[in-house]
This record gives sequence, C-alpha cells and structure tokens, in this order.
Amino acid sequence: EAKAQGRNTLSFFEPEMQAHTSANAQLQSDLHRALERCELLLHYQPILDRKRRIIGVESLVRWQHPEMGMVSPARFIPVAEQCGLILPLGDWVLEQTCRQLVAWAAHASTAELFAAVNISARQLSQPDFVVKVLETVRRTGASPSRLKLELTESMFLLDVEGVIEKMAALKRHGIGFSLDDFGTGYSSLCYLQRLPLDRLKIDKSFVSDLPDNANSAAIGAAIIGLAHNLGLQVIAEGVENQEQWQFLLEGQCDAFQGYLFAPPLPVEELDRRLSLGSDQNALDVSA
Ligand code: C2E
Ligand code: MG
Ligand code: MG
Ligand code: MG
Repeated sequence: EAKAQGRNTLSFFEPEMQAHTSANAQLQSDLHRALERCELLLHYQPILDRKRRIIGVESLVRWQHPEMGMVSPARFIPVAEQCGLILPLGDWVLEQTCRQLVAWAAHASTAELFAAVNISARQLSQPDFVVKVLETVRRTGASPSRLKLELTESMFLLDVEGVIEKMAALKRHGIGFSLDDFGTGYSSLCYLQRLPLDRLKIDKSFVSDLPDNANSAAIGAAIIGLAHNLGLQVIAEGVENQEQWQFLLEGQCDAFQGYLFAPPLPVEELDRRLSLGSDQNALDVSA
C-alpha cells in the first residue's frame, strides 16, 4: 500500500527511505570500485566433525572498505544482488575458493578439506551457471568433489525443475550441495526429497536458543531426524557454547560450525591452525 501510494505522493517516511536509497547507491558504486581494486577478500570458517576435526570450510566474503573499514556481507550482498554486481562478485568468490582448494590439495594435512561457497539466487538463475562453474573448476584445477555449493530454500520457489536440473548436472561432476539456513525459509518437504542435496545446515537462529528453549530443541531434533531419514548429513551453524554443542552431539548432529570452534579466518590464520596437529587437526576449544 505504501509502495502504491509512494509513487507520486510524499509520505512521512520518505526522507528516511531516500537516505537509505542513496546510501545504497553509494555502496553500489563503491562496490563496483571494490571489485576492480581488489578490496574484497575471503575468510574461511572451519566446519568440524563430531571428533572436532576440521573437515572443511565455508568461504565468506569480506570487504575492506577504504573509509568504512570492514563492511558486513549482510549489508553489501543484498545491494550486490539488487544491482547485478553479485554476478562478477560470485565469479570471483568461486574462482578464489577453487584456487585455495588447489593450494590445500598440495599438502597431506589439508588435501581432504572441502570448501563451501554461498551461491545467490541470481547466480543460480543464469542460463550459463552450470557451464561457468564447471569451467572455473577445470581452469583452476580444483577437485570438483572438494567443492560444495550452498543454496537457500527461497531458490526453489520459482523454478524447481530448472534448479534440480542444474544441481543434477553439477552433481554428475562430483560437486556437492548444502541447503543453507534451513528452517528459516519456505521449506517444502516435497522438494526436499527430490533435491540432490548432501547436507542441511540448521540455521543459527535455532542453535542460539539451545538447549533451554523447548521449541528450538524440538525443531533442532526434528531437523536432524528428518535429514537423516532422507540420507542427508546435518551441519549446525552458529554453535557458540559448550551446552549447544553437547545438545547437538547427543542429538546425532554430524558437523558443526561456530564461534565456539573458530570464527571465519584469514587464510594465513587458518593454515596456521591446520598445521598445528599432524594427523589430528582438532581445534582445542580451551586454547
Ligand atoms: P551464511 O551463509 O549463513 O553464513 C554464516 C554466517 O554466520 C556468517 O556471517 C558467519 O560469520 C556467521 N557465523 C558463524 N559462526 C557464528 C556464530 O557462532 N555465531 C554467530 N552469531 N554468527 C556466526 P557473515 O560472514 O557475516 O555472512 C553473512 C551472510 O552473507 C552469509 O550467511 C551469506 O548468506 C552471505 N554471504 C557471505 N559471503 C557470501 C558470498 O561469497 N556470496 C554470497 N552470495 N553470499 C555470501
Ligand atoms: Mg552459507
Ligand atoms: Mg547459513
Ligand atoms: Mg545464515
């Protein structure tokens, strides 16, 4: 209603909206420059198995803005999606991550790591998405079975059949898929069994209330049960304390990600932690 009215008439909240719009416009042009001047970087957050060994990482983009400092992806990814810059940005994230996989493949202690890349709806809907991903993997020399793509539930609303086809094509080459932020979108249990997924990621909004919130506990347990019955593994996001971790361990959750173990890290820092142990790269939470 406000939108319909807002076209030609002044509404009381317009100045605020306008400020927001011009802040976005500024951010958009800054982001354009950021891509050209290499102000973006990747941090990698460890994902751990039940024995606390690092089995993989999630690539998370960071923007070191010359004046504003670190800008959160929660702030600039939506802007990039709106203006289309998510396409070159997404290409860059994928390429960087593949290069990193190649670097890790050269060392015994890191050769088995997988890297998960967040894919936005706009990227996935490009007709050349599959070709582009395969081409990047081939050109960089990354092992496709070490690459995982993270999708969200909202991506299946528009064109399920098309998305399933793309996923199947990439899966034939060994590339895996996780469903990110599970439980926060419009989940359809019907799609869930048809999608060629490997993993579900329980959204951190459920994890943060564990174990005392009975609803979150019930939802967490139900998601793990559902996923296991569908043959999927479960990663819990946003694990911040021992109590949450203990609850999820007892609930048979397969893998864990969160500040309790490690925040997203610059690659040098991650490499340092990975070479701490020889065969065991388990993170010592007390350290
Ligand atoms: P996401 O994919 O769900 O990533 C997980 C987010 O949770 C990350 O936020 C991570 O830093 C944060 N996190 C990890 N452990 C904890 C914890 O224990 N507690 C709390 N409170 N948070 C934790 P980040 O890095 O700010 O990224 C936010 C979102 O931005 C991501 O959510 C993802 O949707 C998007 N994003 C990040 N990088 C990319 C990218 O390269 N491409 C696309 N398309 N989206 C990206
Ligand atoms: Mg993610
Ligand atoms: Mg997530
Ligand atoms: Mg999330």
